[in-house]
Amino acid sequence: MNSKKTRKILAVDDEQTNLILLSRLLGKMGIVVLPAKDALAGMQIAINEKPDLILLDIMMPEINGFEMCRRLKANSETSSIPVIFISAKSQTSDKIEGLEIGGVDYITKPFDMGELKARVSNTLKTLELEEKILSLANTDELTGLPNRRRFFDILERELHYVKIKNKPLAVAMIDIDHFKNVNDTYGHLDGDAVLRQMGKVLQENMYPLDVVARYGGEEFIVIMPETSLTKATQAANRLCTIIDGLQWEISNKQISVTVSIGLTGVDSKNLSDINSLVKKADTALYSAKNKGRNCVVCWEEIKDDSDNKEENVCDGTYNELQNKIVLLIKQLHQQAFGTISAFIKAMDMIIEDPYLVQHGRNVKAYSLAIAEEMELSDELKQHIGTAASLADLGKMVIPKRILKKKTPLTDVEWETVRQHPLVAAKILEHIESFDLEIQFIMHHHEKFDGSGYPNGLKGKEIPIGARILSVADAVDAMTSEREYQSAFSIEEALKEIVACSGTQFDPDIVDAFQKAYQKHKTQWPLSKQVCLSYSS
Ligand code: GH3
Ligand code: MG
Ligand code: MG
Repeated sequence: MNSKKTRKILAVDDEQTNLILLSRLLGKMGIVVLPAKDALAGMQIAINEKPDLILLDIMMPEINGFEMCRRLKANSETSSIPVIFISAKSQTSDKIEGLEIGGVDYITKPFDMGELKARVSNTLKTLELEEKILSLANTDELTGLPNRRRFFDILERELHYVKIKNKPLAVAMIDIDHFKNVNDTYGHLDGDAVLRQMGKVLQENMYPLDVVARYGGEEFIVIMPETSLTKATQAANRLCTIIDGLQWEISNKQISVTVSIGLTGVDSKNLSDINSLVKKADTALYSAKNKGRNCVVCWEEIKDDSDNKEENVCDGTYNELQNKIVLLIKQLHQQAFGTISAFIKAMDMIIEDPYLVQHGRNVKAYSLAIAEEMELSDELKQHIGTAASLADLGKMVIPKRILKKKTPLTDVEWETVRQHPLVAAKILEHIESFDLEIQFIMHHHEKFDGSGYPNGLKGKEIPIGARILSVADAVDAMTSEREYQSAFSIEEALKEIVACSGTQFDPDIVDAFQKAYQKHKTQWPLSKQVCLSYSS
């Protein structure tokens, strides 16, 4: 991967023998020498071949080396090529002039072969370093794709070709749907893994001429040179379907991801500047999000309202249908939740522990107050609320004598207690719409420093709902009255939660809890005076 690229050096000298000597010498260094016997020929080669370095004689007929250097520096296609003067002019004033007009070095003739070799390889080393820095500045670190800055450079170049080659070009802005939920649910590392995979999927599924770049965050952009809007729309729709059908691997789990795509195009008769092109793609993307996500919208189809009337009718029907389906899923979810809640109530009656009866309700209220503070989406809040209500489902496998025990639990008894999140997950796993709740419940006894159970997950690896439940669960346990121990005041509980921030609890959640406490001071703690023998 690190194989050195062959360098090309343009040598301009009116003395044929010098050109032969330089070719031989530099050829031995693995360098290709492009000879030119005068400045005009040299300029042509510089423009056409873009050499890595130019060795330039000064005293030449017609155009001398200084003048050629000035012309090279004035031309945007050649201005960045380093120039080393090789001249018999050995006055300090000549050297200064050469360096002042843009030369990087100055060698006097007759030159020493060793010195020439050393100076050339020094310049090439500097060049290599510059190329590395430029590549870093142009590359997105996470995905290895060209970054936004590079994207604008490439788009500028491609728009230039639209003009001169008379070929169309399309731009697609691609945004991952509900990506915040991926981060919130599985953590930023898994979010990063999805972004990396997305970069690969986009590259693998676009045509070789297309340029895929990371525009920022969870947004990618594709430049499709020589592509009509019709062809680009087909490609974008195909991409949407491929992405929707893929299973995305994150930490041994597989999840589904969809994207919305905004498209626009230009051709030589209908030119657009870079900024308005990107703005159009962005507007179309916004419209794709409004249309329900996981779809493609072309700016050219939405630009004119009158063109758009029929589309709006379709949109209306589509949105109505989508809302109905969402409602139906919610109702099914509610029904399943109702059945399980009834089951939990029956279980509470058998256990006869007033604390457990209240616990689910209190944990839910604390969790939602934290989620509110963190400005989580309504959808995620709902999953967290359900998970909080169902978190103790697994306690049905804990014998009543352990649940009601007044003395500290033995190791064996603790082992039984530790099973409860897994049992709850097992019971719920058959209900598909509870996927997130299962994750939150299963991991609500993990600790931020990795010392919790059942999987010893650490930091943001722990799903966000589980990290919230963990704080809410602890607060309610601490502020509930036990038979043999008085309840903590809410302030004491808060102190304890803060003391365990970063070890047991996620500092961000602790922060959010503190803020929520300031708002709910007068109503908290939520616990009633109940007898409690066991706290999870
Ligand atoms: P929409 O469907 O409307 O696009 O919703 P969304 O959740 O995808 O959009 P939103 O703009 O609300 O959230 C984008 C998220 O992308 C929030 C931000 O934390 C996350 N994000 C941005 N850059 C990165 C990154 O480099 N890594 C990770 N893991 N997340 C990132
Ligand atoms: Mg998004
Ligand atoms: Mg976005």
